[in-house]
Amino acid sequence: MNTPQPVHPSALFAVDGLLTDEEREIRQTVRRMCDDELRPHLAGWFDKGRFPARELARRFGSMGLLGMHLKGHGCAGLGAVAYGLACLELEAADSGLRSLVSVQGSLAMYAIWRYGSEEQKREWLPPMAAGERIGCFGLTEPDAGSDPAGMRTRARRDGGDWVLDGTKMWITNGAIADVAVVWARTDDGIRGFLVPATTPGFTAHDVGGKLSLRASVTSELILDGVRLPADAALPDALGLAGPLQCLSEARLGIIFGSLGAALDCLETTIAYALEREIFGRRLASFQLTQEKLADAALELGKGLLLAIHLGRLKESGALSPEQVSAGKLNNVREALTIARTCRTVLGANGITLEYPVMRHMANLESVLTYEGTSEIHTLVVGRALTGLQAFR
Ligand SMILES: Cc1cc2nc3c(=O)[nH]c(=O)nc-3n(C[C@H](O)[C@H](O)[C@H](O)COP(=O)(O)OP(=O)(O)OC[C@H]3O[C@@H](n4cnc5c(N)ncnc54)[C@H](O)[C@@H]3O)c2cc1C
Repeated sequence: MNTPQPVHPSALFAVDGLLTDEEREIRQTVRRMCDDELRPHLAGWFDKGRFPARELARRFGSMGLLGMHLKGHGCAGLGAVAYGLACLELEAADSGLRSLVSVQGSLAMYAIWRYGSEEQKREWLPPMAAGERIGCFGLTEPDAGSDPAGMRTRARRDGGDWVLDGTKMWITNGAIADVAVVWARTDDGIRGFLVPATTPGFTAHDVGGKLSLRASVTSELILDGVRLPADAALPDALGLAGPLQCLSEARLGIIFGSLGAALDCLETTIAYALEREIFGRRLASFQLTQEKLADAALELGKGLLLAIHLGRLKESGALSPEQVSAGKLNNVREALTIARTCRTVLGANGITLEYPVMRHMANLESVLTYEGTSEIHTLVVGRALTGLQAFR
């Protein structure tokens, strides 16, 4: 009997048939760019903890990847699935690069697009879509992460101005941002503010010593008597629903993106196991190895079907927050399991930067925590199933 040709893990569930020609084309274009322009540098950027963020933002902007699911003001206006697939390919390169794109497009730009005035949109969205201006999204504080309602950052009125005081922590793109979307407590409730990085009293510096997302800027923002004009507030956001809606928007990128990291791990591992000889046989020929690869491919395929289904729900306007939580919880958790399992197949080689697997694994630890930890999403799903909230 002839040995059958290996099937690519992406082909196992034939998910390509669920995509439009345009979606497949976008995925291929982003994948080609990642292979040609990013992949050769990724290990070095991660190792040094430095990468050319501004240059990459302009490159991603030139491809229409920044705010690509938003309409108007220089944004591409594509569907949720197309955007998700772009995130998947970016994260197959590195979660840090997908984070750059997600935070720019789905958090900072989305907040302006959804809650900003016409003037704010005109000023910021076109240069942000082009990658000429970078944005960040400041919600988390040193003592308020999973419970953003506990934030201490305050905005008080002073004549016609606003004055902001507080500290934001773990802010992606913070130290390279031209504009920070900062959420602060006011007498009327939580509101969003556009803080240009040049404003006196605003400083941002990198969080050092990270073992995850090293090809990503993560920063602390300090607001010390930052004085802003009245029109710096986002007029249409009042209450915690504003930032929570932005996070819900961004999680679709993670639901797809995390699978990109898992796919890169699995592709690498299958190739490795087919080459590596142990006990006189190829590692891929052992049943225990095949079980690991099969389980990984199943979870990857199921995760992709879920991602596409949720993307289609979003496109039809029917996606609920608990569905987003279910998708984020499942796909990041499974992606991390896949990365850890793949690492075992690579043995000692798996712990080096010569292979992308442990880099993805370390990155996915952050992805499991940011934009709602796995515990918080579990509680959201639990509340949906029981009608009882178990947060407090
Ligand atoms: C690399 C990176 C980039 C980030 N980028 C941004 C950004 O751009 N903007 C931004 O605003 N934030 C950002 N964050 C912050 C991120 O969203 C928070 O880290 C996250 O919300 C968790 O908050 P915390 O770290 O304070 O953990 P905590 O809230 O202190 O949680 C600690 C642990 O307790 C668990 N826990 C919390 N509540 C409960 C409960 N009710 N029941 C059981 N367990 C619970 C959590 O799940 C977690 O396991 C980033 C974080 C990282 C690591």
